[in-house]
Amino acid sequence: MKTANKKVSAERLVRDALTKAKHFADYNIFTFLNEEAALKKAREIDERIARGEKVGKLAGVPYALKDNFLSLEGETTASAHILQGFTSPITATAVAKLEAEDAIMIGRTNLDAFAHGSSTENSYFGPTLNAFDRERVAGGSSGGSAVAVALDIVEFATGTDTGGSIRQPASFNGVYGLKPTYGCVSRYGVVAMASSTDCIGFFTKTPDDMDLLMSIASGQDPKDMTTLPDYYNDESGTELDSSRHAPARPSSRGSGAQSAPVVADGLELPNSCTRIGVIKDFDNESVDAEIREALKKKCELLKSKGHKIVELEMPALKYALAAYYIIVPAEVASNLSRYDGVRYGFRSEDSKDLDALYYNTRSEGFMPENKRRIMIGNFVLSSGFYDAYFLKAAKARTLIVKEYEKAFSKCDYILTPVSPNPAFKLGEKVNDPVAMYLEDVMSVSLNLAGVPGLAIPAGKTKSGLPIGLQLVGKRRSDKQLIEFSKELM
Ligand code: GLN
Repeated sequence: MKTANKKVSAERLVRDALTKAKHFADYNIFTFLNEEAALKKAREIDERIARGEKVGKLAGVPYALKDNFLSLEGETTASAHILQGFTSPITATAVAKLEAEDAIMIGRTNLDAFAHGSSTENSYFGPTLNAFDRERVAGGSSGGSAVAVALDIVEFATGTDTGGSIRQPASFNGVYGLKPTYGCVSRYGVVAMASSTDCIGFFTKTPDDMDLLMSIASGQDPKDMTTLPDYYNDESGTELDSSRHAPARPSSRGSGAQSAPVVADGLELPNSCTRIGVIKDFDNESVDAEIREALKKKCELLKSKGHKIVELEMPALKYALAAYYIIVPAEVASNLSRYDGVRYGFRSEDSKDLDALYYNTRSEGFMPENKRRIMIGNFVLSSGFYDAYFLKAAKARTLIVKEYEKAFSKCDYILTPVSPNPAFKLGEKVNDPVAMYLEDVMSVSLNLAGVPGLAIPAGKTKSGLPIGLQLVGKRRSDKQLIEFSKELM
């Protein structure tokens, strides 16, 4: 990461980023540019550098903030009409941690309103364009953040991943995108979508940048009771035996090569060999042929480096999409109930009484996809249908959690496509919610199970669109996952 120093000023870095952001204005990446405050901060950092004072690990690094993170700079709208005019009185923990290391937010990025979607077309501000093909979607919901990194406006951007919203846009734009283990990074001060699957993560150009950001952002937060103790920066706190996860470089074998070999599928393997699972069920016609080919190539690469490919059957994953689209809307309906026109942002005027105020504000303020989820969520939670839908989905979720546990007894990581296809055309799926939901078929199971996944650039299609693969690890293996992703380069 290029940080400010005596030779390159923070002001220069920020000015360059702002110039690029303006140059790419027609991609509709930013909902707000933080010009004045960013330049002021940059100058302060430069003064500290000039005085020889200590500066943070991200000194003067410009970054883009997905517009569902609360901070004192700009309105936080989550790209939703109902939040227009909302200025936050608090700062999200993740933002506070980045800024404590002197990173500088240059703008807020576009998303599907309330992060509901897979293309950024559900934004009140209109879609963001794909970095590689302006007729195609950026992916979503964090489309703006992914494109900001892909077009090199900033070196990193924040994202939220409830069911793929970091990994899928990362894969559509050829950058790295991490959904960490559930609870690794505090959700405090981030507009809630589905509290049991929401994760905070990043977009970067390299695994090392991702590691740096995670080492800064992770850790327990008294303001978020679901955060885990900081295992990311504490090797002894992980559930893993790190020797099992070291990349298989002959030089790095050390004493590990002499210790007891592990048994995988009846084969004895040296400890430095990593087992990578591929899911049999995902190798079918519904996955784009060029993506399947990219996966095969990466498997060959891993084998050539001495790793072992293990075939997995994970039949419970076929329930993931259905379970996700019951559990998530249920949580969405609950989380969105607070937007009533009284406390936050937009209020529909001339309503004759309180009921009309709620009705009009919510009718005008939410996007159609938000409303669809509120209706589905309240339906699956209603007394007549709770057992048939929500309870069944919760049971399917337990099956999925167990399926991952079983898989990770046979392998160390799993490699899959991020989505069944590369970036699709703008408008292609926006009026077909089921087709849009099917985009998430490979990403949502990780959120239901709470396991981490890293989207990795894996080449391009013949027509020049990026292909992404995701490397999945067991819970709390985030650091090792990022490190191991270098084996796929
Ligand atoms: N595309 C998924 C959805 O629409 C994921 C959204 C997300 O991760 N925020 O629910």
